[in-house]
Formats: sequence, C-alpha cells, structure tokens
Amino acid sequence: MSEVILTLNSGSSSLKFAVFESGTSKNTASITGKITEIGRAPQFSARGSDGDMLGKGELSNLNATASHEDIIALLLTWLPQYLGNHRLIAIGHRVVHGGSFFSKPTLVTNEVLEKLETLIPLAPLHQPHNLAAIRAVTKWHSDVPQIACFDTAFHRTQDRLASLFALPRSLSNEGIVRYGFHGLSYEYIASALPQHIGAAAEGRVIVAHLGNGASMCAMSNRKSVATSMGFTALDGLMMGQRCGSLDPGVVLYLMQSKGMSTDQIEDLLYRQSGLLGVSGISNDMQVLQDSNDPHAREAIDLYCFRAANVLAGLVTAIGGLDALVFTAGIGENSAPVRKLICDRLVWMGVHLDDEANDIGAIKISSDQSSVSVLTLPTDEESVVAKACRGLVASNPINSQK
Ligand code: AMP
Repeated sequence: MSEVILTLNSGSSSLKFAVFESGTSKNTASITGKITEIGRAPQFSARGSDGDMLGKGELSNLNATASHEDIIALLLTWLPQYLGNHRLIAIGHRVVHGGSFFSKPTLVTNEVLEKLETLIPLAPLHQPHNLAAIRAVTKWHSDVPQIACFDTAFHRTQDRLASLFALPRSLSNEGIVRYGFHGLSYEYIASALPQHIGAAAEGRVIVAHLGNGASMCAMSNRKSVATSMGFTALDGLMMGQRCGSLDPGVVLYLMQSKGMSTDQIEDLLYRQSGLLGVSGISNDMQVLQDSNDPHAREAIDLYCFRAANVLAGLVTAIGGLDALVFTAGIGENSAPVRKLICDRLVWMGVHLDDEANDIGAIKISSDQSSVSVLTLPTDEESVVAKACRGLVASNPINSQK
C-alpha cells in the first residue's frame, strides 16, 4: 500500500490543499484543489496531476454559513474516493507565525498548539485559520501526525541587526523583533534557483513574492539575510489590502485626533488599505490593470514605486544584486508591474527584455542586464510535503502507525 501526504493552507476566505505520494522521488502533487469564497458562497475545485478536473463546485452542503471546520469536514469526506488504498501518513499545514518558538517544521502537539495560539495577535488574518484547520483535522484523523511548517522559519538565518527595531532593548528581549514571512515560498524559490541560474544562485538574490500579501527577501548563499515584512505581515510593501510600511505617527494621530479604536485601526491597516484603499476600487491587481480609472492607475504606480524603494533598501543588506526573481500571483502574471518596478532599477544594472517579459518567460532580463531577472512560479505546498516526508521518516513510530 503506498503512502500519501495531505497539505493544507488555510486562509481567511480560502483553503488550498494538495496530495503528494510519499514514496516517489518527484515532489509534485497528484491532486491539488481549493475552496474559495468561504463565508460567502464557497466554491470548490480540484484537479489531478494531469490537469483533469476531479471536482468543481460539487461540495453541495457548502453555504455562506459554512465554517472552516465544516469545509475541512467536507474535504476529508470527499478525498478518500481519490486516495483509493493509499494510506494517509501525515498532514502538513502552512502556519504563518512560529514566533521565536519554532525555526523548523514541527509535529503538532497540544503544547505546540498552545504556543501558536499566543501568536494570533501578530497575524490576525492568517494564524486563527491555520490553527482552526489543525483542530478540525484532529477530530477526523487524531491518529495521523500533523506537521506545522512556518512562514517565519526561513528567516531565522538573519543576523541580529536585520531583526532589530530601534526600540528599547527590553522590548526586543520580549520578542518584539522582525520575524519576516512568506518563508515557504522563499524556501521553494531558493531550492529551484540553481537549475535556472547555476552557481549565481549562491550570490546576491532578491525574491519578490508579490501576491495579495507581498514581501521581498534578500538572500545570500540561498539563505535569508533581510526581508521586508517585520513583526507582523503588515510591514514593507504595499499589498492588496494592507498598507505596508507606515510612519508610526499616523497610527498615533488616528488614535489621538480621530479617536479611532484599536479594532478600527486594525481593520484599516489590514483590510481597507493597500491597492484597495488607494484605488477605492479593488484589492485585485488584475481588476485595476483592466480599469481606466485614474485612481486605479495611481494605486498601481504607488505599488511599483514602493516596491522599487524597498528593493533598493534590501540590496544594501547583501551588498549588490546578481539576480531578481518575481513570484506569486502578481509577480508571476503581471508583465506591467514587473516592467514598472524594473524601470526604476536601471541605475542598478537591471534591464528587461520587454518581449520576454510580455510573454512571461522564465528569464526576462536582456543580455545587457548585469542582473538576471526571472519569473518563477512558487510552490509552497511542495515545501510542506517535503518537510512532512522528512519528519515522518525521522520518526519511525509515526511511519508505522
Ligand atoms: P496570490 O495571492 O499569489 O494568489 O495573488 C493574487 C494576486 O495576483 C491578485 O492581485 C491578482 O489580481 C493577481 N494576479 C493574478 N493573475 C494576474 C494577471 N494575469 N495579471 C495581473 N495580476 C494577476
């Protein structure tokens, strides 16, 4: 009987899942799927590795009141028909925040869950849903090991200076430091890079993960040296609905002069800002690109201006730039955004091949560019699956269950 691993990536309004066969050397999913629009009108879709549709919109019990727990219950009753007699040996979860507790994939126990709960205020958009998924799975598969893989873990290689805020030492000692996020995506890109640029992958690289959430990571020897997100996933780049870096004086002003509550400010910074706030139209880059509204154009321009600014700052942490990689929804798919960002980096030796950029080729820099520019699809699920495989293999008790 062969063995499989299920990966779950539970967000505020979506749940992505993938199934990986455990015994093969290739780390590609045999089933991938997602449930989107949770809390409104949930939509389900799943495909096999050959791209065949396995199911679409067919979890008939789903409605607007379905909780994450209901969604997971439905998924876990749908899945067995496609698993045949494969045995589920581990379930891996993407968990956004591991704080200073966790620097590598970790088997979930009650004690681990308790520690992760203390981090909810630091990632209110993601952590509660990540943990809800773990709890929901426990009800169905209490005998299958669950493994938490952290978005913060990849950045634990950073020097102390890169992680410090200029705040009193006592606060840093308490853990108010820069953690960084999107680590599973960066780990995937770091592992894929050598096959595209050879030894240059070990050089000075910036990866721009531009999705609805967005950050950049400066790497050297394929390890994180500095990153744009900090204590929470609010810092750094302008995002779909999040503001990115902000003068902290603005928050004081909103509290003191406008009398806003902490809940109102949290909602403003996490859900009403970024592309949505500036455009007044949408958090979705594709929608803004298709719009003729000048506010949509200004939102895109600001997004790219800020991205180039942040990138230039990160270059100082690695002393120059050999390669720049765009990934995630916007990074992989938006030629105009890549162009607007790169046009601000010509002074750094970044030159795009416009044709290659327009068709979304892997290498999009021109021959005169001293910096290799690439678009690479990310694959956080495969990183989670690989970690599960490693942890199960190193723990014979789990693999014999
Ligand atoms: P992610 O969070 O990685 O799924 O990325 C979501 C973002 O990618 C949204 O802002 C989408 O509009 C954007 N996106 C996806 N496809 C495209 C595209 N073809 N052109 C521009 N933006 C896109």
